[in-house]
Amino acid sequence: MKGKDKNQLSWREAFRLNGRAFRLIYKKYPQMIFSRFVSTVWDALTPYISIYLSALIIGELAGARDVERLRELVLVTLCAEALLALANAILIKWKNYVNAGSNYKWKKFYEEKLLDMDFIDVDDSRTHDLYYKIEQFRYGGGWGLMRVLLIFEKLVSALFIILGGIVLTVSLFTSRVPKASGAYMLLNHPFFLLAMVAVMFATIYLSPALTAKADRYWVKNSDARQAGNRIFCFKLAFMTYKGDLASDVRIYRQDRFMEKYDGDKSGIFYSNGLFAKYAARAGGLYYAASAAVSVAFMGIAYAFVCLKAWAGAFAIGEVTQYIASITKVSVGVSSLVGAMGDIRNNAPFLKENFRFLDIPNTMYQGSLTVEKRKDRDYEVEFKNVSFRYPGSDTWALKNINMKFRIGQRLAVVGRNGSGKTTFIKLLCRLYDPTEGEILLNGINIRKYNYRDYMSIFSVVFQDFRLFAFPLGQNVAAGMDYDKERAEDCLVKAGLGGKLKSMPEGLETHLYKDFSDNGVDISGGEAQKIAIARALYKNSPFIVLDEPTAALDPIAEAEIYSKFSEIVKDKTAIYISHRLSSCRFCDDIAVFDKGQIVQQGSHENLVADVGGKYYELWQAQAQYYT
Ligand code: ADP
Repeated sequence: MKGKDKNQLSWREAFRLNGRAFRLIYKKYPQMIFSRFVSTVWDALTPYISIYLSALIIGELAGARDVERLRELVLVTLCAEALLALANAILIKWKNYVNAGSNYKWKKFYEEKLLDMDFIDVDDSRTHDLYYKIEQFRYGGGWGLMRVLLIFEKLVSALFIILGGIVLTVSLFTSRVPKASGAYMLLNHPFFLLAMVAVMFATIYLSPALTAKADRYWVKNSDARQAGNRIFCFKLAFMTYKGDLASDVRIYRQDRFMEKYDGDKSGIFYSNGLFAKYAARAGGLYYAASAAVSVAFMGIAYAFVCLKAWAGAFAIGEVTQYIASITKVSVGVSSLVGAMGDIRNNAPFLKENFRFLDIPNTMYQGSLTVEKRKDRDYEVEFKNVSFRYPGSDTWALKNINMKFRIGQRLAVVGRNGSGKTTFIKLLCRLYDPTEGEILLNGINIRKYNYRDYMSIFSVVFQDFRLFAFPLGQNVAAGMDYDKERAEDCLVKAGLGGKLKSMPEGLETHLYKDFSDNGVDISGGEAQKIAIARALYKNSPFIVLDEPTAALDPIAEAEIYSKFSEIVKDKTAIYISHRLSSCRFCDDIAVFDKGQIVQQGSHENLVADVGGKYYELWQAQAQYYT
């Protein structure tokens, strides 16, 4: 007996998972399913019309040879074939139309989930690993959700092929060998019907079962295959293809990392490797056996049909009809069993798909609306807030207490890893505090509607992203935008000069991905665009996380000199390493190891010679004095 495969799920579970996936696809893309159903049924049944008609013609040719009747038959056949071809063309067109962009459509299931997910999960590397794994399943063998549609087609096709074939073979068993044929009369015995059906099912079952067994080696080794795919993608995409890495790869000769894989002849891609081994041994053997079994069955079918015809049960026309129909039924049963195997083999992949799609939204969603105050009178308070990242046992923030009011300029300073960015992420409710609470105008921020709450913040994160869309759309984060406002924000962010030089103004594409006229922008320019985007959103709070790290000293000075004008009546929170640039802030919070160790104005803080701020200030001042 075979050893139990740890990846294999029970039939029940396999049907449940595939059924659930099918319903999911049907709910989203009913037309896709419907079009495939119709064209599959069509594909399955129409060959029988040709088989039946050509059997009639052959029968006539070998039998009565009535010219009038022959002419009639040929005409009917020609017309039928022409109509079938025409209808088929229309069906294919419809199916292609409904199924267009299917790659994009598949991705939508996951993209929508990712967009809907709590940030805490999106930010979790385990979520990305899982998603990456699911993508690998899809590219490396088409397993997962997409497979369900193919299995559905295979099942429908198999069932209708079998049905059509049975209709055309019933008379093989009902037409009787005449008495005059002597011993051949034995062929009339019902035993032959049973025996034929039994042999058919036994043999037909064996062949696909063997194929499924061979396929199972793929499923069994999905981990190894995934590793293979990763290495392959890494080598191809990461090492050689990714433009922004090419310089590093060359300078540090990082291609040498790949020598390990290239030199190892027992590696997965080579002749002593895992896949080659399976192809040469067990897996390959099962594939070969499966092919042989099908041929054996056809031999038996031919023998039975020919013997019956020889004995005079039916004429030559029917022989072609039966042989062709039995061949098709055997193909139908093969693919039915194959589809069943697929259902089972696909189940573990679907399980991973659902593990991803079922990630729950655990973040509490309040319903209070954030009052859109004209006076922008908002007050935010952190009360005893502590935070640990999921899966981490160290506190990223510990006992944070602070309050800031509208119109304040707050600077947050501290060394790398002291918790500044985490502080901002909590403020924007990308994460909820592990302990303590954050209040907006006295109410816990969890009680507000999430989107509403988010709308009062504009943040320029360090790792912001711009898209290869037109500049104006990037600034507005949308397709339609107010041109004047976008321009004004760009000018305020210090990009006025660059904007003037752009060939199509706000309509100029960033980067060259989508337009030959696109412009490449420097890191500093990108940062200015990100600042302009934050201004365009025009929220009461503006948060700048190291906003000038990529700017040259002149651009940086320019931004600071205009900071008040840029920020206007907004509450600004400003994270920076460069203490000299924090001087214009009303209040400075000094973070150290997740805690606020000092708070006050620059003058007060720098006067405290034993304090952290003084230490940081001194460390930097030596470069300026
Ligand atoms: P800063 O912005 O001051 O450089 P951060 O707020 O980014 O500091 O980081 C504070 C601490 O939290 C650091 O120890 C950092 O390693 C940790 N940290 C930051 N992001 C994550 C994360 N996504 N998962 C786990 N730990 C994190």
